[in-house]
Amino acid sequence: AKTVEKITPRPIPEIPPRMRLSGLEPMEIGPDTLFVNIGERTNVAGSLRFKRLILDEQYETALEVASQQVENGAQVIDINMDEAMLDAKAAMVRFLNLIAAEPDISRVPVMLDSSNWEVLEAGLKCLQGKGIVNSISLKEGEEPFLQQARLARRYGAAVLVMAFDEQGQADTLERRIEICQRAYTLLTKQADIPPEDIIFDPNIFAVGTGIDDHNSYAVDFIETCRWIRANLPHALISGGVSNVSFSFRGNNPMREAIHAAFLYHAIQAGMDMGIVNAGQLAVYEEIPETLRKRVEDLILNRREDATDQLLEIADQVKGDGSATEEKSQAWRELPVEERLRHAMIKGVSDHVEADVEELRQQSAHPLEVVEGPLMTGMNAVGDLFGEGKMFLPQVVKSARVMKRAVAYLTPYIEEANAGSGGEPQSRARILLATVKGDVHDIGKNIVKVVLQCNSFEVIDLGVMTPTEEIIRRAQEEKVDIIGLSGLITPSLEQMIRVAEEMERAGMTIPLMVGGATTSQAHTAVKIAPAYSGPVVQVKDASRSVSVAADLIHPERRKSFIQALKTQHEEIRQSRAARQEKKPPLPLAEARRQALRLDWEGETTPMPNITELQGCHDHPIAELREMIDWSPFFHTWQLKGLYPKILDHPESGNEARKLFDDAQKWLDRIVDEKLFKAQGVFGIFPANAVGDDIQVFDPKGQQKGPLAVIHTLRQQQPSAVGAPMRALADFIAPKESGIMDHIGLFAVTAGVGLDEAVAACEKKQDDYGAIMLKALADRLAEAFAERVHMRVRRMFWGYAPDENLSLKKMLKEKYVGIRPAPGYPACPDHTEKETLFKLLEATERTEIRLTETLAMHPAASICGYYFAHPESKYFSVGRIGQDQLEDYAARKGISLQEAEKWLAPNLDD
Ligand code: SAH
Repeated sequence: AKTVEKITPRPIPEIPPRMRLSGLEPMEIGPDTLFVNIGERTNVAGSLRFKRLILDEQYETALEVASQQVENGAQVIDINMDEAMLDAKAAMVRFLNLIAAEPDISRVPVMLDSSNWEVLEAGLKCLQGKGIVNSISLKEGEEPFLQQARLARRYGAAVLVMAFDEQGQADTLERRIEICQRAYTLLTKQADIPPEDIIFDPNIFAVGTGIDDHNSYAVDFIETCRWIRANLPHALISGGVSNVSFSFRGNNPMREAIHAAFLYHAIQAGMDMGIVNAGQLAVYEEIPETLRKRVEDLILNRREDATDQLLEIADQVKGDGSATEEKSQAWRELPVEERLRHAMIKGVSDHVEADVEELRQQSAHPLEVVEGPLMTGMNAVGDLFGEGKMFLPQVVKSARVMKRAVAYLTPYIEEANAGSGGEPQSRARILLATVKGDVHDIGKNIVKVVLQCNSFEVIDLGVMTPTEEIIRRAQEEKVDIIGLSGLITPSLEQMIRVAEEMERAGMTIPLMVGGATTSQAHTAVKIAPAYSGPVVQVKDASRSVSVAADLIHPERRKSFIQALKTQHEEIRQSRAARQEKKPPLPLAEARRQALRLDWEGETTPMPNITELQGCHDHPIAELREMIDWSPFFHTWQLKGLYPKILDHPESGNEARKLFDDAQKWLDRIVDEKLFKAQGVFGIFPANAVGDDIQVFDPKGQQKGPLAVIHTLRQQQPSAVGAPMRALADFIAPKESGIMDHIGLFAVTAGVGLDEAVAACEKKQDDYGAIMLKALADRLAEAFAERVHMRVRRMFWGYAPDENLSLKKMLKEKYVGIRPAPGYPACPDHTEKETLFKLLEATERTEIRLTETLAMHPAASICGYYFAHPESKYFSVGRIGQDQLEDYAARKGISLQEAEKWLAPNLDD
């Protein structure tokens, strides 16, 4: 007592009354929090699928439903087992106990949902954390109501009160108010329930039923919310949202629009949470104008014929919401600037020429149209994208509108400038190019569009751009920034070349680099030292704008570049330090630790073919069935796995539209034969000799090896004692006396791609152009997958009974691998030359190798097949000087040559 005498006691903190729930994690809800989504799918009364799973006792899968809900953004999950065929109490207990062991699910609070108190109480006994009892009511009078409320409090749960009383459900504003007031007073005064633990559900009923009495159901609910918020302090408000649109069953887009508009108003009036399908919420602002007006007429009961008005357009709304947008012409009556803005944000290019012409006639100089309304529209798009309110595919569609407008205006601008001595340069200019030898430009084109949306002027030099041309054009056009793109590792060397040339030319403008193989480390260690101006690696397209803006901003520029240089210096130092610590194993030692498969008494599978198998025009229709869609969404910067991504709470809508568009394009690709898929493969006798693989004539006519495939061996010491692998380890060595085999393949789905893309670009259709390339890539991968499958099952035939689902196949659950030169297990791109020679690929297909050994068309893949069950993908990683020398000698090339191609795997 003495010791603490002089210390003032801690003031007891005042904890603001807020609803505090928890699963494994705490959750607070108050007037300032965003609307809380309660997942509705784990409800046997609401979801047929969930009901079947529970009835069939498929609890494992039922758990997946719950975890999907949470993943899709449900912050609370509602669980209901009320079903005649079910022992609801037992099912509730079993399910709750199961989710308790699934942290992904049980991190969110649970809402126990039943009309039977016994079930609720049994559930309460299982809950960890603080959940919600859904529901109690005055249906059977005050006594049981209070009794249940007290019990719920003892079990530590919040209560949800339905607006029912002894006379039944409240269906007018007055009755709702009366019941809620009465329940509130009883609960707070007699059952000692803190008001912040009370949630009211003032009954959401269906509107648009054709019965006049029902017309005010929604607006009465909304008004009740307002009243509760004003009169029952700290109490919260919830409701089952999908009831409201029940009359429109079968028309989901319409229902979503109704839900969105209803929630918009109810939330403003004070609704805190609701039972919704978290994966399926439309955005109020995105509901097309006419539809929104009619939906609101219905919900707010603004006109007697609201239901008829809405039914009138119900058919248009069915299916794709965007089609409705284009059909509904109300926006065409807006003033022309707003029409253009609307068209840009929505990506509708139908009327752009007419609108731009109207503006042009009003302007003194056609350039004013570009600098004025068009830039304003594009900036709005850029801002929305920056804020995450628009997704990449939408932005690209918007850019299409912009481009068509500019294309329309260009002749007028040129004409006007001819007299006045040229266009004044006002916007920042960026030159973009895919470097020499590289043919990949999806990423670059996306960057272009995104930059254009943010008032940058882009000069695009396309693919395979020689260094000299980049330098020359940059100087001629007086650009402010150069941006380089490339996908394959040799492009990294080309980026260094460009940096060196920029230095030699005495340039000082910033250099941005991007593409799958670029990295912070490579940029800091290899590119930046070659150029004294700023060099930045841009991680993905959406960041290009902020980086470019920082690089040219009059004030921010300096500190940004300073920070960049410091960061690069740190990377260089930490790399240097790391390398000293972990030198590669000597090559001889790595070889001693090679993977040694036991070939003793083994027989290797004999292929069923000896000839090369070529195909000049494989049906695309068949390939589209085997597409792996997840990387497609990734290309469009929508992250997530297919098919789940289609239900993503934020990007799901856009993902679905994109997917639909992709299907339409695939239909065209098939119908109009836009692409041809070609390929060739063969299976060759082979033996490993050291780290080389000798390849023999399948017909046995030529005795010695036809060619030698050179593989590289891991030299980074492994912490776990794993073998030091080389691909050669998967092939039987010569000394085993066993003749083994290796498969080789090259496929493309991109023959015709360039022409199809050019046709799109001619129409200023970036969206179509990017879409075509992305789909060609997907089809090529699908083709590779299909050919590999047929090789395993038939041509090589070592897995004749394989019968994997597509999903499993895409997860590589089959026996064998198909590593591709340029990838981590075989990083040397020059090995493609050997592969092409053995396959006669240049004669049998239209695939060509560029000077840096990229394949053209871009949508092409080549690689090896290994059949051994132990064969796995791995990464060669860093190699030592000794292996470099050994490899150069084995290949018969100079050390410099080897150094050039293996640069990414060498110490700096
Ligand atoms: N389903 C995917 C398949 C492509 S990615 C799609 O549609 O995009 C997988 C391919 O990359 C493999 O088949 C192989 O060819 C290559 N690959 C992956 N890891 C590799 C590694 N470590 N070494 C060599 N090739 C590799």
